[in-house]
Amino acid sequence: MRDPMIDFESARLKIFNATPMLGTKTVSLARCEGYVLAEKIVTKESIPSFDSSAVDGYAVRCEDIEIAGKNKPVALKLVGEVRAGGTAGDKVGKNSALRIFTGAPVPRQATAVVMIEDTEESNGVVFIKKSAGRGQHIRKKGKEFRKGQEIFSPGNYISPPVVAMLASSGVTKIKVYRKPRVSLLVTGDELRPPSSKLKPGEIRDSNSFALIASLHSMGIDNVDVMRVKDTEADTRRSFLKALKTADVVISVGGVSVGKYDLVKETLHKIGVRQVYWRIAMKPGKPNYFGVKGKKLIFGLPGNPVSALVSFYVLVRPALWKLMGRTDESSFIVKARLTDTITKNPGRMEFVRGIVNRTGSGELFVSPLKTRDSHMTGGMVAANCLIYFPKESGKLELSSLVDVELLLW
Ligand code: AMP
Ligand code: MG
Repeated sequence: MRDPMIDFESARLKIFNATPMLGTKTVSLARCEGYVLAEKIVTKESIPSFDSSAVDGYAVRCEDIEIAGKNKPVALKLVGEVRAGGTAGDKVGKNSALRIFTGAPVPRQATAVVMIEDTEESNGVVFIKKSAGRGQHIRKKGKEFRKGQEIFSPGNYISPPVVAMLASSGVTKIKVYRKPRVSLLVTGDELRPPSSKLKPGEIRDSNSFALIASLHSMGIDNVDVMRVKDTEADTRRSFLKALKTADVVISVGGVSVGKYDLVKETLHKIGVRQVYWRIAMKPGKPNYFGVKGKKLIFGLPGNPVSALVSFYVLVRPALWKLMGRTDESSFIVKARLTDTITKNPGRMEFVRGIVNRTGSGELFVSPLKTRDSHMTGGMVAANCLIYFPKESGKLELSSLVDVELLLW
C-alpha cells in the first residue's frame, strides 16, 4: 500500500520540529549581514551619545527669542560657530547665538536651535525671525536608547539597518548562528548542462541553477552540486557522500512513483529516517523529507515549478531556522482576487499570482493562467503564491485570500 499523503501544514510543522539551530561563530561587523544574531546586544553608551543639532542654524536660549516673528526679528550677538565633530566650547549667554551645523554638539546653555531659513546674519548679528519651543531641533542624548538597554535579541536577522545600529553602538565582533552547508543532488539521466547541444529526449538542467540561486539569495554560499544518474548505485553513492559534509541535503527529481524514482528507497537503505513522503499539495505532491542525526534531507520533485515552490514553502523556512532566525521570514498578506479560480478539493494549491496595490492602497491579486507545474514562465511572472486551501473547490472573484510574497 502506498503511504498516505500528509497535509501541507503538518509537513511544515514536522519540518520545523525536526530542524535544529546550528552552532554559533563570531563574525566581524563588515561581514555580518545576512546572519542571525546569537547574542543579545546591549548599548555601551546612550544613543545619541550627546545633545546635537538636527539642522543647520543657530543655537540660542529660547527665552531670548520669545517675541520673535517674521516682521519682528530679534537681534542676537553671534558668539562663534560649532561644526559636526567640533566641541561646543563657546558659551551661549544671554542674547547670543552660536552658528551650528547638523550633527554638531549643542552647548549646555542653549535650549533650542533655530533653522537657518528663519534667520538672517550680518556683521556679527543674527536676526531671529521665529520663536522656538524648548528643545526645538535638538536631538537629545539617549533619546533613542539609554545606556545599558537591550537593542537586539538572539534570533534577530541582521539586515542593513541592523548593521548600521551595530556600527553606531561600537559593536565590531558579533556572535551569530552558522549558515548551513548544503549539498544539492540533481537526479535524472535526461539532464545535460545548460551549455550542451541536446540529443533527442535530453533537456537542460535548470533546477540546480535555480536552487543554487535560491540559496544564494538567502546568503547561503556553501553549496556543492552533484549530478546523479538514475541508478541505485549512483544515488546511494551520492547521498552517502553528501551526508558526510552537509547539514542539509536537497535532491531534485526521482522522488515520485516511477520505476526510476530511486530517492526514497535508497535513503531508507542508507539509514535515513523518513518523516514524510508525498504532500497533499499542488504543485509538489512527490515531496520527501527525512532526517539522519541532525542532518535534514529534502527530496524535491523534478518539475521546475514544483521544485521552486517546494523549496520556497518547505525548505526555506527550515534553512532560516537552522540559521537561528526566530522573527518572521515569510510574508503572508491578504489580497482581493481579480478572478474566480477553481480546483478539485483534496490538495492545497499554491497558485502563482501577481499582487498589486491600487490607488486606494488595497492589495489585489491576479492568478496567472498557467498553472502547469512544468512551465517555468508562470513562476517568472509571479510575485506571490495564492494559498488555495485543501478542501476548497472555489475561490470567488473579490474574495480576500492569503498570499505569500515571493521575496527571492
Ligand atoms: P522527476 O521528478 O524526476 O520525475 O522529474 C519530473 C520532470 O521534471 C521531468 O520532466 C524531468 O525531466 C524534469 N526535471 C527533473 N530534473 C530537472 C532539472 N534538474 N532541470 C529541469 N527539469 C528537470
Ligand atoms: Mg527523474
